[in-house]
Amino acid sequence: MSAIDALPPLREVIQAHGLQAKKSLGQNFLLDLNLTARIARASGPLDGVTAVEIGPGPGGLTRALLAMGARKVVAVERDERCLPALAEIAGHYPGRLEVISGDALEIDWSRLGLEGPVRIVANLPYNIATVLLTGWIEAEPWPPIFESFTLMFQREVAERIVATPAQPKDYGRLAVLCGWRTSARILFDISPAAFTPPPKVTSSVVHLTPRADPLPCRLRDLTEVAQAAFGQRRKMLRQSLKPLALDTAALIERAGLDPTARAETIPVEGFVSLANAMRDLRGR
Ligand code: SAM
Repeated sequence: MSAIDALPPLREVIQAHGLQAKKSLGQNFLLDLNLTARIARASGPLDGVTAVEIGPGPGGLTRALLAMGARKVVAVERDERCLPALAEIAGHYPGRLEVISGDALEIDWSRLGLEGPVRIVANLPYNIATVLLTGWIEAEPWPPIFESFTLMFQREVAERIVATPAQPKDYGRLAVLCGWRTSARILFDISPAAFTPPPKVTSSVVHLTPRADPLPCRLRDLTEVAQAAFGQRRKMLRQSLKPLALDTAALIERAGLDPTARAETIPVEGFVSLANAMRDLRGR
């Protein structure tokens, strides 16, 4: 399916609708339709798929998702100035583009009645990208309604999402959470020059696939142990886990870990063991 449509070039759309980028909304637009097509393609074949897009802006990625065969695109945009441009796209693809005017942080995804398979594909506003991702990964029940997430982040955030103890500088709470519930990898980088206006840093497209059966433990326990351990990441576990207000030695032994190890050397499995040991010791 062609990734190019008969709609006007995005530069003209931006001019016609006065869409000067606003920094406060994290607006860095991608105007190169080959690039938007590459991102759409990175989410896999789109036939029959409902794509959820956060922040369509003037609609470059939206157009690529529709042109490449998404059954439907549900796009959430906070900037009302973009709505007329998006309405033009909707007119070009009757019945296939639903625009929700509002804040993506306020949406209860389970209530939208999205019909599967559903994937999130987005060039995220950088100022809320991590909060959005954490919200999706912390959703209960798990697995979520989303089959996959194909998301653009700042390169530095992308590295923190996919990190393992082999990248100790980037490995932290975000990597533990994402590694526990998803399989995540960086697909490719996009240089600042590709955006209007160009951001200060390189961006990366990350693909996350939810694990159907993450190692069993409770989200809140995992979050709590990871927060304590990485709260003092230079310290040994026997010190950094003290805020949990438990017999730290007994906790670490029960989890089968080395009390002199530091958080950044503990793989996801180790954090899951710690979470379960903490629950057992507390008896709740
Ligand atoms: N998808 C477009 C592209 O690739 O050119 C625009 C991406 S731009 C990085 C981020 C978009 O998210 C902007 O259109 C911005 O208005 C929108 N946005 C910012 N905060 C938002 C929020 N809380 N909810 C929904 N959209 C938001």
